[in-house]
Amino acid sequence: MDWIRLTKSGKDLAGLKGKLIEVTEDELAKHNKKEDCWICIRGFVYNVTPYMEYHPGGEDELMKAAGTDGTDLFDQVHRWVNYESMLKECLVGRMAVKPIAAPKGMLPEKKVLGASAKDLTPSYDWFQTDSLITIVIYTKQKDMNAELVIVDCQDKRLRGEIIVDDHSYLVEVDLDHAVQEDLAVNIAEKVGKVEIILKKKDNIHWKMLGQPLEHHNTFIKCKDRGLFYRKCKLVSKMEVTHDTKLFCLMLPKSTHLRVPTGQHVYLKQIIAGTEVVKPYTPVLPFLPLDFKEPSHYDGAHIYLMIKIYSCGLFTQALDHLQIGNYISVSNPEGNFKKSQVQTSEDLFLLAAGTGFTPMVKLLNFALTEVSCLRIVKLIFFNKTDDDILWRNQLEQLVLKDERFEVQFILSQPSKDWVGKQGKISSSLLSEFVKRSRTDSKVLICICGPTPFAEQGVQYLKDLGYSQEEIHTFTA
Ligand code: FAD
Ligand code: NAP
Repeated sequence: MDWIRLTKSGKDLAGLKGKLIEVTEDELAKHNKKEDCWICIRGFVYNVTPYMEYHPGGEDELMKAAGTDGTDLFDQVHRWVNYESMLKECLVGRMAVKPIAAPKGMLPEKKVLGASAKDLTPSYDWFQTDSLITIVIYTKQKDMNAELVIVDCQDKRLRGEIIVDDHSYLVEVDLDHAVQEDLAVNIAEKVGKVEIILKKKDNIHWKMLGQPLEHHNTFIKCKDRGLFYRKCKLVSKMEVTHDTKLFCLMLPKSTHLRVPTGQHVYLKQIIAGTEVVKPYTPVLPFLPLDFKEPSHYDGAHIYLMIKIYSCGLFTQALDHLQIGNYISVSNPEGNFKKSQVQTSEDLFLLAAGTGFTPMVKLLNFALTEVSCLRIVKLIFFNKTDDDILWRNQLEQLVLKDERFEVQFILSQPSKDWVGKQGKISSSLLSEFVKRSRTDSKVLICICGPTPFAEQGVQYLKDLGYSQEEIHTFTA
């Protein structure tokens, strides 16, 4: 918030009295000190010296890119952050374009990829009846499912994205005519065929599907595809603890989106004129306890369990949203693979505070769909017993499924706490994370404040667990 205020103060943060310049590599390299630091991101150069003290990762992290092209580093750490909006007042100018001599004898990339890559690229077709338009995407994947298909249709603009491993195929057109709000998606999982069915607004014959948009019919790495947002309506807000709430967001009727287990979405809000984006991990409305399902537990809603920080920039604004207000929600991201659980016999989940959120869908998946698991154990670290999220439900789950155990550990317990206390440590982990058999296949998932997760991983490695047996949830 202090940074946003400074950007609105009218101070010359770029240091060029309102001019924009063309920056050469040599010039960029000269600005490599804390008190004079320029960084290039995607061809644009920013003077980040005034931002130093506000950078959440600290000055040293920013200095790693001082006087250079920081795009790769930026993408590794927080690709979702809208730096254009955050740093607009620090813009120095564009990098000067260097003429690139075409290397002799090399084929353009597409040709080098050749026929085999082309064969794997999905393709699409479309047809119509009097009332319907059907777009068929042939994904060439046998194990297609609803989580790999994301469709949005807003104001005649249709966007259908298919995830194939770490690649994304996109159909993106400005439709020829208007369609009704609701759409349907049919997936033939075995043959990998995806149908997007739109209802025509008027029963007229369409001459064409529509005008292709910029990224139509492209098949690229997911990390190179920009995040897409749609506006979702806040339909309910329920208290979970004194500072944590369960937000229920409703997707538009014209969106098909299922967030996979272990993945997060980004929420975007404009706060004091600046776009702010933060990641959140969708949960279920409750743990798998045979409770009567509430009417809107289906593909049309996203549930988020969010801790409201008294000084938090994003969560304060979120808490002020009224029922019926809208907020932008991105496509899912994350590198967790369900197959990691499907091949395990012992599953240990180490969570601290809201680091519990990815464990919710994971617990549901593990206990309802993975029969080879012998032990599923959650070790849940919190400050006080008032902070424990869904304690009651977790205790009920223990009674319901004998494979499941939970251990609560408090770092700041009250006098009456009779349970375990302390912080994550090697001795605690050696006590609680034990293979059920000497040769058990183990998966340990960890999530919480970054230092908690880093320490946890180190202790686990010291205890002899391998990198392949540990998954850390990060952005
Ligand atoms: P901020 O303004 O960032 O500050 C939050 C609090 O932390 C304040 O008290 C502030 O003083 C302090 N603070 C800020 N930066 C630091 C720092 N570097 N070191 C120490 N203290 C600091 N949160 C959830 O509640 N639910 C989720 O499901 C969830 N999922 C997430 C998924 C991922 C992949 C990641 C990376 C994070 C997730 N988070 C989740 C955290 C969330 O993204 C935000 O960080 C959180 O909501 C705080 O945002 P804020 O803008 O309100 O707080
Ligand atoms: P919190 O209440 O502050 O802390 C929860 C527990 O963790 C407490 O027992 C606390 O002990 C301990 N802890 C905190 N920092 C620690 C550290 N440096 N070393 C060891 N133990 C530590 O937690 P929170 O406010 O809910 O924060 C949850 C965190 O999880 C946030 O940072 C959020 O970004 C992250 N998160 C990440 C994801 C993801 O997918 N990557 C998802 C959800 C949440 P003390 O009493 O000592 O503080």
